Amino acid sequence: LARRLLVRQHFLSDCFVRAASNAARLKYDVVVVGGGHAGTEAAAAAARTGAETLLITQKIQTIGALSCNPSLGGVGKGQLVREVDALDGLMGRAGDRAGIHFSILNRSKGPAVWGPRAQIDRGCYREFIQSELLNMPRLTVIEGSVEDLLLSAADPEQPGKHKVTGFLSANGGGEILSGSIILTTGTFLSGSLFMGQTTSPGGRMGDPPSCAGLSHCLREVLGLKVGRLRTGTPPRLVKDTVDFSLTELHLPDSKPVPFSFVNKHTQCKPEEQLPCHLTYTTPGVDKVVRESLNVNSHIHQDTRGPRYCPSIESRVLRFPGRQHQVWLEPEGLTSDLVYPQGLSMTMPPELQLRLLREIPALRRVEIRMAGYGVQYDFVCPTQLFPWLQMKNVQGLFLAGQINGTTGYEEAAAQGLWAGVNAGRIALSLPPMSLSRTESYIGVLIDDLVGRGVTEPYRMFTSRAEFRTALRPDNADLRLTPRGFEEVGCVSWQRYQEAVRVSRGLGEALSALQSITLSSFQWREKLGHFSISETKSTLISGKEVLQYKDVSFDLLASAFPDILSPYLEFSERLKIEAVYQPHCEKQRQEMERMRKEESLALPQDIDYFSLPVSLSDEVREILDRARPSTLGAATRLPGITPAAIIHLLRFVTKRL
Ligand code: FAD
Repeated sequence: LARRLLVRQHFLSDCFVRAASNAARLKYDVVVVGGGHAGTEAAAAAARTGAETLLITQKIQTIGALSCNPSLGGVGKGQLVREVDALDGLMGRAGDRAGIHFSILNRSKGPAVWGPRAQIDRGCYREFIQSELLNMPRLTVIEGSVEDLLLSAADPEQPGKHKVTGFLSANGGGEILSGSIILTTGTFLSGSLFMGQTTSPGGRMGDPPSCAGLSHCLREVLGLKVGRLRTGTPPRLVKDTVDFSLTELHLPDSKPVPFSFVNKHTQCKPEEQLPCHLTYTTPGVDKVVRESLNVNSHIHQDTRGPRYCPSIESRVLRFPGRQHQVWLEPEGLTSDLVYPQGLSMTMPPELQLRLLREIPALRRVEIRMAGYGVQYDFVCPTQLFPWLQMKNVQGLFLAGQINGTTGYEEAAAQGLWAGVNAGRIALSLPPMSLSRTESYIGVLIDDLVGRGVTEPYRMFTSRAEFRTALRPDNADLRLTPRGFEEVGCVSWQRYQEAVRVSRGLGEALSALQSITLSSFQWREKLGHFSISETKSTLISGKEVLQYKDVSFDLLASAFPDILSPYLEFSERLKIEAVYQPHCEKQRQEMERMRKEESLALPQDIDYFSLPVSLSDEVREILDRARPSTLGAATRLPGITPAAIIHLLRFVTKRL
């Protein structure tokens, strides 16, 4: 407590560098390096497990900073936010506090692939995360930079196998001892920033890269396999200089749905939410991109960038002559800035302005901060155990962008799981894994450690083979009980609430199952809906709830004595009833898939025109490799189990 108070006093007086040196030579159960989205969740999770934890980061004021887009969630990513929340993480609650425009993406499809998403007030998000961390029991936060890791031999009989014993901080900050260190250095490891023909060292605009000693330690001393990736961000625009009358207005949902299971409402009232605006690129934009090619070093680098968040340069070169969407997103409730999603660019600033002004709504636009690119080291994640500890370096954990992922949500999910395990191991408890069948976090980690990455990895619902079971609405039922009973990272109150909800849903489903009537009787009871079964077939209330035009409320009005106690679960019950048969079918398909390993794949398949749901990335991999059997396709890096199921369905239909 004394240590934390000391550091918080320094926080208030803005003297963190001194705090770092005051903390020198202390010992912690767990040390987390980096205060981005992975680091904040890691530190909070380790502390929740009961481990005395230290978070050291370059600048306290950037803890919880959204380096790129001012938004959270989306399809696949929203599921991760819900799961982080179900395990008592910070991100969902921070999103509810700082969200200024909430919407559920994919609403026209089934709830399994709905994507909870929100525009975020950057300042408010940072403040929330910082105040949570600085008030957290067992967590000390200091400002400083880790220069090197302290190592010793893990086993005298096995030369080359190391264990971490602590770290050395930069600028004479001294040594701090710990047997569990989580590195979450994001885009900062050997980071270089690109704008036009200028390249400078940096992890993010205004922030230096990670100390060179840390990169040297990972590459040379520990001999880890390290690769290089890149990403970029758009210019930030002055709101008053945008002509919104030339854009399409996009309103948020009238009833914002919170990310967190503990929140009934979002902080922002429905009527206070801000809109987004949509506009498009013009042929003039293509022209500027082409003219800028010889003064744009970033695009000539042969490192891979994020496939699903490409720069405007990549989009124009890949799809010449096509109009591209540009979303104009608010940066905060009172911010005078606009974020033009879709216009990430790295050309010189004067050309950035020229390009923007080729878009009618931006004809008079001014730039507050130019767009830029960043290139950074990542550590190949196949060197990790599923609990995110290095296989060859005892006590060293990695999480976030350093593992080759992109995105705040992917970083937070890994951070939480690394924090949980670092905490457990420090407390002499066995590490734990999450399976693909229980969570998107499990899918993410399994993909990373099992297949590795060749380009920045982001989450999609298509990566999960059990996605009808891994829905955003049921993350609490899937993870909160395990998080409390086995993992030890969930509070008693949250656990109690999850148990109450689970019990209520179970009782309600049994009650529905117990009501059995003939189709004729159901029509009489409910009045308006159509049941196709013959008159004498007995149908349960649970089956009737699967019909599109039947709500739980309607059933409860017909059977108030039995069903009205469960009205608070109305929406969840509808989803559960509809999805239960699908989940069962999916499980059977997976079982069948295991048996079909040796099924031959026809060599004349045109993977690009295959009428099944496969991502472009998967189609390219299959086309390049032309696997001869389904088993061979399964083992290709980048092929998801979900893609295998689609392939299996197609081939068996064709045979
Ligand atoms: P970060 O958020 O990068 O945090 C790393 C933290 O570690 C920082 O606080 C840093 O100060 C600290 N740190 C680093 N080294 C040390 C050290 N040695 N000692 C102490 N502290 C240290 N994501 C997308 O999804 N789409 C995009 O298009 C996109 N574009 C981006 C463009 C740019 C220019 C940048 C910078 C990022 C972009 N991102 C994008 C990535 C997004 O910011 C990350 O995915 C996310 O922030 C990763 O979280 P993290 O916790 O792994 O790392």
